[in-house]
Amino acid sequence: MPNVWEEALLNLRKAAEIIYLEPELRTRLSTPMRFTEFTIPLRRDDGRKELYTAYRCLHQDATGPTKDGTRIRPGLTPEEIKALSLFMSIKHAVAGIPAGGGKGGIKADPSDLSEGEYERLVRGFIRRLIPKGAHRDVPGADIGTDARAMAWMLDEYEQISGFHSPAAINDKPAALGGSLGGHEATGWGVSECAVMAGATLGLGPGSTVAIQGFGQVGSIAALTLWEKGFKVISVSDVFGAVINPNGIDIGKLFEHTTKTGKVNGFYGAAALEGSVLEVECDILIPAAVQDVIHESNAKAIKAKLIVEAANAPIAPAADPILLAAGKAIVPDVVANCGGVVVCDFERTQGLSNDYWPLEKVKSRLLERMGRAYGETAALSADLGVPMRQAAWAMALKKIRVSMLLRGWS
Ligand code: NAD
Repeated sequence: MPNVWEEALLNLRKAAEIIYLEPELRTRLSTPMRFTEFTIPLRRDDGRKELYTAYRCLHQDATGPTKDGTRIRPGLTPEEIKALSLFMSIKHAVAGIPAGGGKGGIKADPSDLSEGEYERLVRGFIRRLIPKGAHRDVPGADIGTDARAMAWMLDEYEQISGFHSPAAINDKPAALGGSLGGHEATGWGVSECAVMAGATLGLGPGSTVAIQGFGQVGSIAALTLWEKGFKVISVSDVFGAVINPNGIDIGKLFEHTTKTGKVNGFYGAAALEGSVLEVECDILIPAAVQDVIHESNAKAIKAKLIVEAANAPIAPAADPILLAAGKAIVPDVVANCGGVVVCDFERTQGLSNDYWPLEKVKSRLLERMGRAYGETAALSADLGVPMRQAAWAMALKKIRVSMLLRGWS
């Protein structure tokens, strides 16, 4: 397992060199502002008492209150949480969101817990963490947490603080002040990046697309591109992959996966032998897990454009191989920042008590995606560096301005 914190610092170092970031700011951003490790006691249904380890990392708050997800998974490490908090600082800056980077989590296996145990665990997380509210640090959802968990976290926070504060917790259900469009946001943003980057390469509607992962992000990206006239020819999930060179009817694939829970067996496509990543296509969207494109398979990628929907789907060693082969890459911090944009909208709506219709959420999201992609592409051309380095450099420039204005250097 690669050290994700070291990988994140590598990106930081490269971008810091590009913008000649002041050494003291470089040191400051290479060290999280605050890292908290704590334990949560949990009474299991059978009476056993267990202790779970939890973390919350606040990377920097020069750009605004820290924000973002709560990951619950077995094997969770402090390095993973630190790296994700740094990623959140970068994503917020890329998307023009006035927020710092935060991430938290619990080392636990949700599938090993009853519903009651899971509820007590997430409530315990808030009780032990005592988040400081909408103007300081706003936890949201991530792997292992969903709208239901965030509703319990909000309730626990409001019970402790003694007042209603919907903006203090993100990714909650709309009935409790969540934003419409939260589920679709990242997939919409990914497809918008594919359209914008595709246009610069002459890859418009009719171009072929392969997508790894048909979950929340991959399925919405597939549906949106299909609706725009792109030919989605191959789709995979953790159980297998399907292919149809004439294009898959994504609407019907949705009906199939809703019934069966997997893409395998879909009557409108054949089973794919081999990897979806290596399919002959114009646009590849890895939307599953990290490091799926690595040194050993990078040369086998045929797509001209790769849009990183997952976090870090391209391992650092594969990046130069793909770039040398002339592949265009829209990096994760740009391609999948749609989710954090709508989280920011959620906080804004909670603070103002003015809840937006879906059309407003979507149009403002697409406008933000256009700006984030456009600014990154322009800096990439200006500096003559790949989009990934340009995105990190742009983010560091914005964070640097906030730090310097605050007199932090
Ligand atoms: P999800 O759990 O809803 O879906 C993941 C999909 O990937 C599923 O179809 C699963 O079967 C498939 N998958 C898992 N492991 C696989 C493997 N080894 N090979 C092929 N397919 C595999 O997750 P999601 O919310 O769609 O997120 C997908 C990725 O995007 C993750 O890396 C996540 O961290 C990242 N991401 C998600 C969001 C968001 O808003 N959900 C935001 C930013 C980044």
